[in-house]
Amino acid sequence: MGLAQSVVFPISLRQLRECGGKGAASGGMLFLRTGRTTMPQIIVSNSTCAGLRRIRSSRALTATMAAPLALALSGCLGGAPIPSASTPITQTEAQQGAEFHPQLLAEFGGAMTGPQAAYVEQVGKNIAVQSGLGNARESFTVSTLNSSVNNAFAVPGGYIYTTRQLVSLMNNEAELAAVLGHEVGHVAARHSQRRQRNAQRNQGLGVLGAVLSGVLLGDSQIANTVSRGFLQGSQMLTLSFSRSQELQADELGIEYLSRAGYDTRAMGTVLASLAAQNSLDARLQGRGDAKVPAWASTHPDPASRVQTALSKAGPSAGGTTNRDTFLSRIDGVIYGDDPEQGVIEGRQFIHPELRLSFTAPQGFYMVNGSRAVSVNGQGGKAQLTLAPYAGDLSSYVRQQFTALGGKDQQLSPSSIQRTTVNGISAAYGTARVNNGNSQVDVVVFAYEFARDRAYHFAAITPAGQGNAFTAMFNSMRRISASEASQVIPRRIDVVTVGRGDSVQSLSRRMAYSDAQEARFRVLNALGSGEGVRPGQKVKLVVRAR
Ligand SMILES: [Zn+2]
Repeated sequence: MGLAQSVVFPISLRQLRECGGKGAASGGMLFLRTGRTTMPQIIVSNSTCAGLRRIRSSRALTATMAAPLALALSGCLGGAPIPSASTPITQTEAQQGAEFHPQLLAEFGGAMTGPQAAYVEQVGKNIAVQSGLGNARESFTVSTLNSSVNNAFAVPGGYIYTTRQLVSLMNNEAELAAVLGHEVGHVAARHSQRRQRNAQRNQGLGVLGAVLSGVLLGDSQIANTVSRGFLQGSQMLTLSFSRSQELQADELGIEYLSRAGYDTRAMGTVLASLAAQNSLDARLQGRGDAKVPAWASTHPDPASRVQTALSKAGPSAGGTTNRDTFLSRIDGVIYGDDPEQGVIEGRQFIHPELRLSFTAPQGFYMVNGSRAVSVNGQGGKAQLTLAPYAGDLSSYVRQQFTALGGKDQQLSPSSIQRTTVNGISAAYGTARVNNGNSQVDVVVFAYEFARDRAYHFAAITPAGQGNAFTAMFNSMRRISASEASQVIPRRIDVVTVGRGDSVQSLSRRMAYSDAQEARFRVLNALGSGEGVRPGQKVKLVVRAR
């Protein structure tokens, strides 16, 4: 989480219906997905394939900025006709893109600068001009987002984004061009506009209603308002394109690769790396399945998609990969959490700048976002975030309930208890929410870190099971300056394999206490039996300031 404040999106279900009813929104629908709950969140943008996004907002992002973003993205974009595929960027699209770009940057961790970002920009513009959307490199804006989630997306108007984490997973320049080309492909084919329009034509309001309902909360008005308020800030976004749209974007990407002289197999190989990373993450998080990150569920059959992409590339696929150039240009990029937004170490979350730490319950996994860190598991969900604080913890707690309930729902705790946690003044309350089918408990647990600064957990569990998070609530503590200074980021370190090196010896240099070899193999796209050759360059993840 960053220092920005959590804001409950002021969108009601009614507003969404009204927007949907106009039937002519011209953006794509980006879904906010947290574990088992999905809801439409943004209607603008294409998104990838890649899955979970962790987002860090700029510190300047405030409630006043975020609220209009939410409204702007909620779906009322107006109703120009959808341009045909590969029509150059229209005036309307350019205006939309220019409007959303700074807000998306702020929401998704901010744009990186420096040599690595400059390289991504150069490769992205080269591939984007192959699309026919714009004739000049200047028609496109390519940004590297400071996010530790694997993702990429694009916005109509020629704005293309990838996270640094996804770049770190790639093994050559052709793969970078493939991912960016895939996103450009969604834009060129106007997939987001078509997706949105089809949803309205075919299913009317049903699709909105269906995606708004979370399994935990059931399908009801209160579930919708509570889950929207609750999930905002957890920042896991993915866009639901149809399978055929994904395949078409892959195909367009491959075409652009070919035109640009790249090895067209790169689309298949980068998709394979994503699938491997996704299943490794699932295993490491103890999720047992690969449904979250959502890359897998957005693309239900990653293996066959990889095969399709490889066969589309053709048996005689050639072209450049620029592997060594790519590796030397991304060397040193931050990998995983940026300490400025807090880091997850096993079950512990440490925020060096906010000077706090807590421990998640056993069996839960955390995802760090721009405005919140979320804690997810079978027994419930929680998120830590901050809100404006005027010095009264009780009213702070009440305000959070009000915000969670939203305009349409009165949500308030039966009582507010005061306590002290590791020397920190704290207050908490619980509200039971009946949604008709079942009941859930919403807990807000707030801590006063300074006279003008408070943080809080909002947690949601099946009724009566709120104690799943008690130990976590009680684990919140301040950290010292020296503990904060010991948080050192991980970075990609590109090394040349020496004569005496093996996968095993290199894996031991990975800055992780678990799954070193599995991580090394996925990072370098090495199959389970595959070895390394002396002289070859490989990526390691090391600790370095
Ligand atoms: Zn896609």
